[in-house]
Amino acid sequence: MSTTSGTLYIISAPSGAGKSSLVNALIESEPHIRVSVSHTTRAMRPGEVDGVHYHFVDHAQFTAMLEQGEFLEHAQVFDNFYGTSQRALEKTLAEGIDLILEIDWQGAQQVRKLMPLAKSIFILPPTREALRHRLTNRGQDSGEIIERRMREAVSEMSHYVEYDYLVINDDFSHALSDLKAVFRANQLLQSAQHQRHAGLLSELLA
Ligand code: 5GP
Repeated sequence: MSTTSGTLYIISAPSGAGKSSLVNALIESEPHIRVSVSHTTRAMRPGEVDGVHYHFVDHAQFTAMLEQGEFLEHAQVFDNFYGTSQRALEKTLAEGIDLILEIDWQGAQQVRKLMPLAKSIFILPPTREALRHRLTNRGQDSGEIIERRMREAVSEMSHYVEYDYLVINDDFSHALSDLKAVFRANQLLQSAQHQRHAGLLSELLA
């Protein structure tokens, strides 16, 4: 068992900023980083797998988990409930594995209070028009629904000041390397490195 605890990362973004694609690409190239699987009451979308993208639960199951204190954080986002299992999170971090929470600003505020060492990253779209375009491209939604999504996106983005890092997703590969730089810099923190290289340090200082 590792004596080094993993680092907790919070990543938030408005819908349409490309957060999931960036996180998926990050995980592919950095297999030692994991993404927490949240519980949600929202309906499964085509292509989603229960237990992989989310743990899909009904309202009664979600409420029971909430009452039993199983969530580190939870929030209502749009019309659905989302929560992060505390037990799963603690187990991963205790194994020394870095963990990403893909959660909204409400969850981020709760996690920061409980785990002040967590690093938070906010991903922004390059322009308002690009955001509208990405929200429009998502499906066959009406203009009214797209305007509602724009309002929700602006509301989410208004919380960017609460985050440690900002990544602008203009060019995908640039944004990905920015994201990787955040993770790499945190791995190089003296506090992490002195545990990882304890043998080297004691040899150098002998
Ligand atoms: P979606 O339903 O599109 O997957 O996610 C909608 C929003 O819910 C996104 O902003 C996402 O980050 C957020 N979200 C997903 N899981 C959680 C969670 O466990 N807690 C909180 N607070 N937000 C979450």
